[in-house]
Amino acid sequence: MDSHIDRRYSFVPVEEWGIFPEARPLVIAGPCSAETEMQVLETASGLKDIGIDVFRAGLWKPRTHPNTFEGVGSAGLEWLRQVRVRTGMRVCTEVASGKHVAECVAAGVDMVWIGARTTANPFLVQEIADALKGVDIPVLVKNPATPDMDLWVGAVERLAQAGVRKLGAIHRGFSTFERIPYRNSPDWRLAIQLKGMFPGMPFFCDPSHLGGDRKYIREISQRSLDLGLDGLMIESHCRPACALSDPAQQLTPEELGRMLESLVVRRQDSDSREYRENIDQLRARIDALDDSLLEILGSRMDVSRQIGEYKKDNNIAILQTSRWDSLLENAISRGAGYGLPASFVRTIFNAIHEASVQVQNEILAGDDAGQESGGNS
Ligand code: PEP
Ligand code: MN
Repeated sequence: MDSHIDRRYSFVPVEEWGIFPEARPLVIAGPCSAETEMQVLETASGLKDIGIDVFRAGLWKPRTHPNTFEGVGSAGLEWLRQVRVRTGMRVCTEVASGKHVAECVAAGVDMVWIGARTTANPFLVQEIADALKGVDIPVLVKNPATPDMDLWVGAVERLAQAGVRKLGAIHRGFSTFERIPYRNSPDWRLAIQLKGMFPGMPFFCDPSHLGGDRKYIREISQRSLDLGLDGLMIESHCRPACALSDPAQQLTPEELGRMLESLVVRRQDSDSREYRENIDQLRARIDALDDSLLEILGSRMDVSRQIGEYKKDNNIAILQTSRWDSLLENAISRGAGYGLPASFVRTIFNAIHEASVQVQNEILAGDDAGQESGGNS
């Protein structure tokens, strides 16, 4: 899927953006929406007090339902400027059109982000990318609301091609019909895949929109740090209960301060020789085990192929679901004996089964093609 990606995009390291201080995690905090000048300034001052350097506030709010608070719009740009002047913090907001970009640039906004609903729309992303040509501010791209990796990658590509070199990504979870405790469902696998596709691009998690409730913010933040993500974007409001949007998921600056203090920050690497030696040994064991896994999978596939030939010779259908059901059930219970979760064993075995069926299908198709060409000659 990523074969078309131009890996030559070169990104400016986040340390050189002039936005964040050195220490990890990189933290962006502020209200979901700017509501009044007082609310913005009071929240910013509380955040400054707990050591936050980058302030967020939504001005143009993409609300799901009409007749809800849709943000204060351009009027809030002056309030962000005041935050900058009074606290020295950097400020950022969400843009959803070329016009928003132009207004933000004119008002001296330090960084912008593209929201989940906008990332899903290539026309708007292109319009934003065009408006950013020749503008040297960082842009963060949230994942689209639906779990469509290509839309996320495409948005990053459009911006990179427009010359944006200070680019980052934000994982805010994906909408789902499944009943889950969180507002949006995380897919760390996709997030990590994107990180791998664009090395050097800083990666943030937005636990507020992911969790949808303040009680989940700590666990999601810790999880993202454990996975090695670079930073967090967290909603904070001086009076969350009165917030005009997303009241349930915002923390007061004091609560945010305590939450951040409680996080265990993992290091990316270590200089300790003992650590390096041990980790190298463990990785060598993993590499050897992976080799064995591949060898076993290859042998299994050979047998599968032989079965396919044998079925073909005897004119037997490929799928025998009762055989597969009992095989899977057996694998799940034996896997449990090795401490493997059922869902993991199921995923692995389903993938193996799918590949085997594919191979056996090809054997049968080859036979049909052979018969056809034989018949024609
Ligand atoms: C936001 O950050 O305020 C926002 C609207 O988030 P999302 O685009 O993730 O829904
Ligand atoms: Mn919000």
